[in-house]
Amino acid sequence: MSTLDQIDTAIRRGHPSVLARYDILAIVDMWPELTARVAAGGGAKDSSGIASPTKVAPLPVRVDVVDVVSEVDQWATFLARALMEETDWEPQGTSTPALLRQIAQRVGHFTEHEDEMLALAFCDDAERLRALVLKTARPSGRRSIRIGAKCWEHGTSDLGERVACRGNLTVLADPERANVVPDVVCDQDSAHRIDPTTWQRAWRRTGDAVGAVRLVARWHAELVDMSASA
Ligand SMILES: [Zn+2]
Repeated sequence: MSTLDQIDTAIRRGHPSVLARYDILAIVDMWPELTARVAAGGGAKDSSGIASPTKVAPLPVRVDVVDVVSEVDQWATFLARALMEETDWEPQGTSTPALLRQIAQRVGHFTEHEDEMLALAFCDDAERLRALVLKTARPSGRRSIRIGAKCWEHGTSDLGERVACRGNLTVLADPERANVVPDVVCDQDSAHRIDPTTWQRAWRRTGDAVGAVRLVARWHAELVDMSASA
């Protein structure tokens, strides 16, 4: 099993609501890339790779990508409607990523739903659609995986104050580099990172990739606080 598969598996041992939230936020993260692929670029090419002006004009959109977009659209609408009917929630913004971001904050409503079939289908759909969106948006399979730990670093506010970074720690999964252990990087500032040798040492000791990153993030936070107060 490659390193990245191990990380993914470690994350997948979490609670269903954590996993569903992780899947939904991953879809939101990939949404701009997915919708950017709807427009077919470059025109149709024949087998020689040269665009032929004599051929029938190609469809201006990629139908396979449109299918994925509309499946996620319908899923988000279905979930939003269920939330509106079953709770007093009112959506703020109705675009698919806006709905999904709000649904991600309310996954418990579905994972703990009294209709067990609905609860199971919700988790399955979240996982399946995330994989489908990933495959469609990023055919190379490169993606960043949220590791479930907050960044420990600090940034500077507009007023020059030292403020806690609000970023999430991620690892970049690249199938072409599947056996290279990636840095853990903050999604707000790529200078905030943990190199592999540091967090892997903790991983080897605990056997828990995600737990190891959290541990290292906590050590870093303590070190940062110590140097700030020194
Ligand atoms: Zn950060």
